[in-house]
Amino acid sequence: MKKVLLILTGGTICMVRNRETGALHPADLDTFKAFVPELFSSDIKVEILPFEPLIDSSDVNPDNWAKMAHAVYDHYEAYDGFVILHGTDTMSYSGSALSFMLANLGKPVVFTGSQLPVGVLRSDAKENLLTAIEIAAATDEDGNAIVPEVTIFFGDKLFRANRTTKRNAEHFTAFKSYNYPALAQAGVHITYQPHLIYYSDPEQPLRLRVETDSNVAVLKLFPGITKPVVHALLGTKGLRGVVLESYGAGNAPSDKWLFEELRQAVERGIVIVNKTQCNTGSVEMGLYDTSLNLMKAGVLSGYDITTEALLTKMMYLFGEFPDDNEQVKALLQQNLCGEITIE
Ligand code: ASP
Repeated sequence: MKKVLLILTGGTICMVRNRETGALHPADLDTFKAFVPELFSSDIKVEILPFEPLIDSSDVNPDNWAKMAHAVYDHYEAYDGFVILHGTDTMSYSGSALSFMLANLGKPVVFTGSQLPVGVLRSDAKENLLTAIEIAAATDEDGNAIVPEVTIFFGDKLFRANRTTKRNAEHFTAFKSYNYPALAQAGVHITYQPHLIYYSDPEQPLRLRVETDSNVAVLKLFPGITKPVVHALLGTKGLRGVVLESYGAGNAPSDKWLFEELRQAVERGIVIVNKTQCNTGSVEMGLYDTSLNLMKAGVLSGYDITTEALLTKMMYLFGEFPDDNEQVKALLQQNLCGEITIE
C-alpha cells in the first residue's frame, strides 16, 4: 500500500467560518478530517502532520519554509510522497523555496489548497486534495515516482511550483505557469508529460539546506520613477540582492542617474537581477540599448524566471553562501531545479 504524508500548514482549505464574526479561521483537526472521510477510505494510506498553529499563508515566512522542508526531509524514507496543504496567497513562494531547499528530490512534494473552505458545498478543496494525493503516490511500472519534484496541483493542472504565480483571486484556476507547460492534466484520467518533468540525479542523496537571508528587495520600474526612491531602496542597510522588475525584454529608462545608481550598488556588492514585468517571455539583455546599459552597470539577466522563484532563490543562495557573492552570481545564472530556461 502506498503511503502519503499530508502536511497541514493552513490556508482556506483548512478553515471554517465563525458564525458570530463571519470571518474564516483554521478548523481543528477532527473537524477537517470529518469533512474529508474519503482520505481514509482509498487504497493510499494517508497520515496527517498538522502544523501548530495552522496559519493563513500571508503569515508564512522563511522559518515556515524551513519547517515544511524539514517535515519532508525527516519523514522522507517512510512515505512514497508528500502533499502540503497551504494557503494560495503565498503558495508559489513556498513551493519555489522548497524546490531549492530540497535538492536532489526523488519523491513528489505536491502543494495544494483551495479557493473555498473544505466544508463549503461548492468547494474546490476535495478535488484538489484527493487528486494531489493520487499524484503524490503515483509510480511508473518500475516503481519510480512519476513526478519527483516540488509541484502545485490546482484546478485541473499540475505545475512545477517554481514556475507558478497566483494569478486569480476568484476562479478555481488560481495558478498559472506562464513560461513552462503543465506537467500533468487531471480529467477522467491524470495525463502526465514525462518529457517535461525534472529528474534529479538518482545517485545523489536528498540534501536539505534551510538557511536563508531575507536582505533582498524588489525594485519595480515605472515611467517617472524618481532618483530618491531608487537611491533609498538601493541604499538600504544590509541589502544583498535586488530583483529589478524591468519592462518588456528587460529594458529600463536610459536616464544617466539610474545607470549610476545601479552601477554604484553593484560596486558596493549588491547583486541585481533583471526580471521582466511581463508574465510570459524572457529577458534578453542587449537586445535594445536600454538593456545594454543595465549590462554595463553589472546587472545580471533573470531570463524567464518568476519573481517568486528569483526572490526565494536569492534568499536561499545568500543563506548558503553568506560571504561569497561570486558563487551566488554564478548560481543565479544556472538552472538549479527547472526554475529557469537558459538557451
Ligand atoms: N488567505 C488565504 C491564504 O493564503 C487564501 C487561500 O488560502 O486561498 O492562506
